[in-house]
Amino acid sequence: MARHDDPPLSYYEPPEQTPPPRCPICRAETDTFKKNYWGEIVGCDECIEDVDAWDYTEDNR
Ligand SMILES: [Zn+2]
Repeated sequence: MARHDDPPLSYYEPPEQTPPPRCPICRAETDTFKKNYWGEIVGCDECIEDVDAWDYTEDNR
């Protein structure tokens, strides 16, 4: 018989009803958003990657 007033063993875990943050760009669950110079969220660790500026400039010249 489960008793709801038993001291929870998972006391220090975050409440389960709190949904994880999701990236507004790719909808991935993430701990880190990326924002630009103006404070706009432009992605997260999942959908932002570094691009070599020299290679990119060469390809798009
Ligand atoms: Zn993302």
